[in-house]
Amino acid sequence: NAKAAGGARYAFFDASMTKGPPDQIELLRELRLAVELNQLELHYQPKIHAPTGEITGAEALLRWNHPTRGMVSPASFIPLAERSGLIIPIGRWVIEDASRQLRIWRDQGIRMRIAINLSVHQLRQPDLADRIASALRTHQINPELLTCEVTETSAMVDVDATVRVLQKLHAMGIQLSIDDFGTGHSSLAYLRSLPADELKIDRSFVLDLETNEDARKVARAVVNLAKALDRKVVAEGVETEGQNRILREFGCDQLQGYLFAKPMSAKALALWATDNVGPRTMNFRASIFKD
Ligand code: C2E
Ligand code: MG
Ligand code: MG
Ligand code: MG
Repeated sequence: NAKAAGGARYAFFDASMTKGPPDQIELLRELRLAVELNQLELHYQPKIHAPTGEITGAEALLRWNHPTRGMVSPASFIPLAERSGLIIPIGRWVIEDASRQLRIWRDQGIRMRIAINLSVHQLRQPDLADRIASALRTHQINPELLTCEVTETSAMVDVDATVRVLQKLHAMGIQLSIDDFGTGHSSLAYLRSLPADELKIDRSFVLDLETNEDARKVARAVVNLAKALDRKVVAEGVETEGQNRILREFGCDQLQGYLFAKPMSAKALALWATDNVGPRTMNFRASIFKD
């Protein structure tokens, strides 16, 4: 009845007041378990070379294969992992698993880069570069095959420390990418000081390219800014032929988005990549691999 439910709700909130909503606490407990039980997976989304339409590599995106909830999106568990510090062991697992995957693809004759996402907490770990180096060494992977994506916002949290870490990674030969570029309000001087190889234009600039003249102007300015800084430009979240055409016109070097393919398992990506992927076959393939 209503009174009992009210009472229960009160007790519920009271017990967890200091730790956040109860569903988050339960989710955190399950996420800890998931790390132990190896329920996390990396899915891969192709990055397409704009001039040729060929796949150059793939971005590794975390998936939580939950026994009862199904596939849990990183948008719902990465923030929790960041707040709880669990992102550190998770991030280490990502580094290890992506390196292992690079080795598998290399042994299969598939020459592809992998981009991993690094969180702001990982950037503050003094042993980050050593861990990456050691994973690459273990699997005998050329560091140039690994890209680290860091969001513009997290690159601004502790500017000096970030520049140092990124310089170290860069010196190792690892490629660096500034993710969600254009959303972080960082200064041009700072952007110029980051040893980034590529800037990844945020999806929000791609969204209404076809319908909104102002959006088009802003997107073009962001692309031109990236090019003026002499960085490669990647556009993320490309969903339509119209966006594709406009972004190519703007001079984007690489494109990524559902138009080409959604993130997929490593096995599915290997098939996708070895089948000769050219501009003609792209839409066809995008429709096969929709999940
Ligand atoms: P992100 O790095 O900016 O990744 C791009 C996100 O956009 C991915 O969402 C991808 O599936 C989605 N996406 C790609 N193409 C399209 C498209 O055409 N349309 C739409 N609507 N979405 C598209 P996802 O996989 O849910 O990941 C969300 C975010 O979670 C990532 O954003 C990244 O910040 C974070 N994340 C994912 N994996 C990791 C990881 O291993 N470590 C860390 N620290 N963060 C991760
Ligand atoms: Mg990313
Ligand atoms: Mg992004
Ligand atoms: Mg984004």
